Formats: sequence, C-alpha cells, structure tokens
Amino acid sequence: FAALGAEDPVAVYDAGTDPHRPERLTLMSELREALDRNQLRLHYQPKLRLADERIDGAEALLRWQHPLRGAIPPDAFIPLAERTGNIRRVTRWVLASAIAQAHEWAARGHELRIAINLSARDLDDADLPTRVADLLSLHAVAPRTIVLELTESAVMGEPDTAVQVLKRLADLGIDLAIDDFGIGQSSLAYLRRLPVREIKIDRFFTQKLGEDVGDRTLVRSIVELGHRLGYRVTAEGIETRAAFEYLREVGCDHVQGYYIATALEPDALEAMLGRDESAAARGVRA
Ligand code: C2E
Ligand code: MG
Ligand code: MG
Ligand code: MG
Repeated sequence: FAALGAEDPVAVYDAGTDPHRPERLTLMSELREALDRNQLRLHYQPKLRLADERIDGAEALLRWQHPLRGAIPPDAFIPLAERTGNIRRVTRWVLASAIAQAHEWAARGHELRIAINLSARDLDDADLPTRVADLLSLHAVAPRTIVLELTESAVMGEPDTAVQVLKRLADLGIDLAIDDFGIGQSSLAYLRRLPVREIKIDRFFTQKLGEDVGDRTLVRSIVELGHRLGYRVTAEGIETRAAFEYLREVGCDHVQGYYIATALEPDALEAMLGRDESAAARGVRA
C-alpha cells in the first residue's frame, strides 16, 4: 500500500489510529484497481423543473459494482477516499465520464444540465479549473450545461485556494450549487460572497413535508430567502406527492427524489426523457 496518499502529500488520514485499517486499505487499493479497470459507473438522477414539470437536468451519482462485495454505496468509499488522498483520481474519472455523457445527450438533442458532485478536497487542487476547461473543450460541451455541487462544509473553510478555485470555475460559465443545504454551518449571508447560483435543500428537511408544520415553514422560508438572494432552489429527497405539491405551492424551482425517479443508468434516463419530450410535443403534462 505504499502508493496510499502518494499523489496527495497533504492527506490527513492517520492509518496509525484507525482500528479498521487493514479493511480500509484493502478497499482503497481495490478502488484504485476499479478505476484502472473502468469498473465504476455513473447513474443519473433526473431533476424536474416544477414550472413546466419537465426533466431539464440530472445529477451524476457514482456506482461501484465490486466483483465480490457487490454494490458499494458512495457513502462507504467517498469519505474514505477523501481521507486517503484517493479522491482526486475519483473526481477526475467522474468529470471525464459525466462531461462525455453530457456531450452525448446534447448531440442527441436533449437539453439537460448535468450536475457533478465535488468533494471538499477537490478545491485544494489549483489545477481543477484548467482540468474542467480542458474536458469541456475536448468534448465540445457548453459550460452552462454543467453544474458542480459542493457541500456547505466544503466552501466554509475559506482557504484562499478553495475560493480561487470556485471563482475560476464560475468564470468558465459553470454554475455552482450548494448541496445538502441547511444541515451545515453556513449561512446564506456567507454564501452570498461566493459565486453560487443554486442551493439544494437537504432531504432531512423534505422527508416529512406532508405532516411536519415546522419543516414546512422552514422549507418555505429557505425557498423565499433563496429567491430573494437570487438563487435557484432545488429540493432533494422528494418521496411523496404531498412533498411534491407543497414545493410547487411555495415556488421551489426544481425537485429531485424517488417520487420522480431514483438514479438511473444512462439508457433508462434517456428513455424517460423520450417519454417526457413526446408528451410535451403532444401538449400534455408528463
Ligand atoms: P448527494 O450528492 O446529496 O446525493 C443525493 C443522495 O440521495 C444520493 O445517494 C441519492 O441516490 C439519494 N436520494 C435521491 N433521492 C432520494 C430520495 O427521495 N430519498 C432518499 N432516501 N434518498 C434519495 P447516493 O447516490 O448514495 O450518494 C450519496 C452521496 O455520495 C451523495 O450525496 C454525494 O455526497 C456522494 N457522491 C455520490 N456520487 C459522487 C461523486 O461522483 N463524487 C463525489 N465527490 N461524491 C459523490
Ligand atoms: Mg449532490
Ligand atoms: Mg445532496
Ligand atoms: Mg449528500
């Protein structure tokens, strides 16, 4: 495991104090193997625009089908990859794959914005904006087709590099979104100083929208304040018609969640878009 952390000298993972060290090191060496063998996949979860109920975007979500262990969810390996310095290789693969996919869909006439998750550690990488710009020109993808999602904690630290990286990404014409909004430490007052265009309300606040009066008030306030500050607002984790209706009522821009669809293989998403587009052509709601 000599290569662990080698590409990233500032990795903070302390293997010496980790009781699960052997398993975790194995998992990380298997992750690098999976990258080399192209065993990772991206699935895409549709994003529905409430104004006309059309799917106009999708979020790329990483899927690792391990040959022996089966499906390993991102929460089981992304945080570890962040701590061990392996995240940059993962992010590079994700960016290349999602931007290539964005090109394919645009070439087939689908107007779709592709959202890609970045981790906090990616913002330490001053080369990231150049890498993204190169991928966009390689695949002839318009920057406005891409949204990069970052959690509140990723942008809160405010080291100079992170802010510079965010600004350079925004200058390319890419939209930045704050993921899992509401559960972290950030305030809208702070975020306003960053080039952020969208906030995504964490599913923690949307899961009980059908019955919880407090959550309804909170979500309505986030949508209203977000709009006054000029953000697009997306609600995550929409699982019920009640939540969906409430978000439409309060004027939320986009919704995402199992009520609309889970993350789908690219072909399955495209089939869904096809149905959506032909329904729109006939003038009926999807
Ligand atoms: P996230 O970016 O907040 O993604 C939303 C997560 O919620 C996804 O889980 C999605 O499948 C799940 N989800 C969507 N709708 C619903 C719903 O209605 N109900 C419930 N209960 N869950 C829903 P997933 O795919 O397991 O990803 C978990 C996290 O892993 C993501 O949270 C993101 O932080 C991270 N992740 C995923 N892919 C990537 C990636 O390519 N790069 C990085 N850096 N992180 C990623
Ligand atoms: Mg996300
Ligand atoms: Mg989220
Ligand atoms: Mg999350």
